[in-house]
Amino acid sequence: MNHSPLNQISEHVYWLGPDATTDRPVLGAVVGSHATLIVDAGNSPAHAKLLLDGLAEVSPAHHQRYLVLTHWHWDHVFGTTAFEMPIFAYKETQQVMTEMAGLDWSDAALDRRVEEGTEIEFCRDMLKAEWPDRSNLRLKLPDVSFTTGLAFDLGGVTCRVTHVGGDHASDACVVVIPEDKIVFLSDCLYEDLHHGPLSYTPAKLFPLIETVVGYDADYYLWGHDPEPMSKAALLDFTGALKSIGEHVERVGDRRDDILEALPGIIGQPLDEDHIELVDAFLAGLRKL
Ligand SMILES: [Zn+2]
Repeated sequence: MNHSPLNQISEHVYWLGPDATTDRPVLGAVVGSHATLIVDAGNSPAHAKLLLDGLAEVSPAHHQRYLVLTHWHWDHVFGTTAFEMPIFAYKETQQVMTEMAGLDWSDAALDRRVEEGTEIEFCRDMLKAEWPDRSNLRLKLPDVSFTTGLAFDLGGVTCRVTHVGGDHASDACVVVIPEDKIVFLSDCLYEDLHHGPLSYTPAKLFPLIETVVGYDADYYLWGHDPEPMSKAALLDFTGALKSIGEHVERVGDRRDDILEALPGIIGQPLDEDHIELVDAFLAGLRKL
């Protein structure tokens, strides 16, 4: 019986589901005939080990292995010391990680940074829960940095890593596996969490939506969503997101007027998610 926590979504692509209790994101692996590319390092060496143990069953030991990081957020990079392989990251990801490697990650230092406003409570609390004793915390920095994108040929399957940016993180990258029609979106389409209330800006979000819906893909894996999203579901979601963003842009900072007209625009009654999205676009508007 197979007890591996890894899920297989296509011939070459595997993924480990997220765990919201300590904000563990989705991790991925693309297994070719001679090499394996791992997508994101996880939020601790313990999280990384789950992926590496699962991988032992599907990626032969002689394979060249590579790790690519999708953006600098702690939950995607704090597992790096568990990976004995070359690490690839976008230039800004490498720069921010270099700064992070010099920080004190003790409880007292984290609390101080939350107080100063240079760290957010959510990340502090999740990091403390995931990794209570961080006296051994080290960050392994990327070996190779890139500025626009990278292509890997793993043997019978390729991976394209592309910098896309967005509200969530300006260094966000996606990993596209054209042969299998799979895209690792990681966190690129989520809101900005680090600058006040959750926010979206049309200027960053709309071009990003065009880019990701333009990929010839069947499934998209989000960084913290428990299930892959079909192309049809992504088109539905991003279509609604765009309609809401355009409506907020048109009406301006008048929440009640926005909410009153919105059901007519999206063709359905409002639910909590729609209201959250309105508030995220309003927060983006107020930051401009
Ligand atoms: Zn993130």
